[in-house]
Amino acid sequence: MADPPVPHLSFEDFRKHGHDLIDWVADYLEHVGDRPVRPQVEPGEVRAGIPAHPPDTSENMDAILADLDRVVMPGIAHWQHPGWFAYYPASTSPASILGEIAAAGLGVQGMLWSTSPAVTEVESAMLDWLVDLLGLPGTWRVDTGPGGGVLQMTASDSTHTTLAVARHEASVRGEDLNQLVAYGSAEAHSSVEKGARVAGYRHIRAVEVDHDQAMDPGALARAVDADRDAGLVPTWVCSTVGTTGTAAIDPVRRVADVARANAMWHHVDAAYAGTAMICPELRHLQDGLALVDSYVFNPHKWMLTNFDCSAFWVADRARLTGALSITPPYLRNQASDAGEVIDYRDWHVPLGRRFRALKLWFVLRSYGAEGLRRHVRNHLDWAQMLSERVEADRRLELVAPTVFALVSFRHVAGDTATRAIAEAVNTSGWAYLTPSVIDGSAFVRVCIGSTWTERQHVEALWALIDDAAAAPAQL
Ligand code: PLP
Repeated sequence: MADPPVPHLSFEDFRKHGHDLIDWVADYLEHVGDRPVRPQVEPGEVRAGIPAHPPDTSENMDAILADLDRVVMPGIAHWQHPGWFAYYPASTSPASILGEIAAAGLGVQGMLWSTSPAVTEVESAMLDWLVDLLGLPGTWRVDTGPGGGVLQMTASDSTHTTLAVARHEASVRGEDLNQLVAYGSAEAHSSVEKGARVAGYRHIRAVEVDHDQAMDPGALARAVDADRDAGLVPTWVCSTVGTTGTAAIDPVRRVADVARANAMWHHVDAAYAGTAMICPELRHLQDGLALVDSYVFNPHKWMLTNFDCSAFWVADRARLTGALSITPPYLRNQASDAGEVIDYRDWHVPLGRRFRALKLWFVLRSYGAEGLRRHVRNHLDWAQMLSERVEADRRLELVAPTVFALVSFRHVAGDTATRAIAEAVNTSGWAYLTPSVIDGSAFVRVCIGSTWTERQHVEALWALIDDAAAAPAQL
């Protein structure tokens, strides 16, 4: 008796729907600027379009794809919209999407070198390319060591990993694990506190920042001394290059001095701003990297590579594998036992890992260093243009220097007027920015970083801001 058939999509149908879907994505990206940036749905509205229970029998792919437009699209915020200036970008690109499709098609699981050697070796090569492209310390290259790079899902994962490794090392040294202290600036990303909490740190310090919102290394040194005097064990510190609030830059070298003097793990979070280091003229902003223990930046923010893709390096990879390598019999194999290969499962918490490096490979080759630099420099130029207009406008004021492509400003009339600008821009449908708060007062964050943004979109944004800034004065 024949086995009952499983309703796989035939390869013929797969091709047809695949071509249709690429057309759908291309149409979407080509015309995304014609849509309102943000969805208008109420909570639960998308869910209401989905049956409460799964289907018993196979559904037709035409019907499934049609529901992309019917059910999904009304609830999509258009992160790829040229008027997207909110948060930090989640940029993608046609080259990246192709890499993602190829990775999905191969469907490999690269937990060990032996479970798909190309996953490990393309990834190592891409992390080494990034060392060159971003001017990172040469000793972080996988092919030379002693450091090395690995892709992770998010910057939060990378930061958490370093906290867990530093805690493990402290336990090996025989420290009282209840006494470990982790430090970040008061402006560090929430993933620092979350990572420390999840890794079991009971003491987490938010170090004072200066008037530019950068960590004050003197305050760090004082906090470390006070904690030591109280019998605690300063263990880990994060410098942020490009904070989430205003893209402030902690002084990496001066923090490194404190970290080294106290044998602390020093991690650098450059999740957003790391991409900008493709421009050599900006690298002085993270001077001191040769003195740190780890570094993370997200190609999935500003480097045209779709989420998820977070690039993470350590100065000494033996510290990672020392803490994270656990080998049950079923993971043993000849290549690993011989120590000839890298098994990336030992470089982070998860065992399984997908072929993220493929999309990065496609992006780096498709744009080339020159193309990526042009992309970043355009954004830097337009941010400067916007920043100069804000400075020249007596109704507005910057709340932080514009160093990367983030412009942070407020209305001089106060919080209500500032929030009114954000509200006017965000309800226009043509642009989207983030209202935020710093030092207790409202401000507006405009980050230029979307793949398809051009000068004209920044001009259009300025026109909206200009109109909205005038409005309170007429009240
Ligand atoms: N660090 C900084 C400075 C960030 O701005 C962000 C997100 O915007 C993160 C970390 C978190 O990134 P991820 O979502 O990759 O964890």
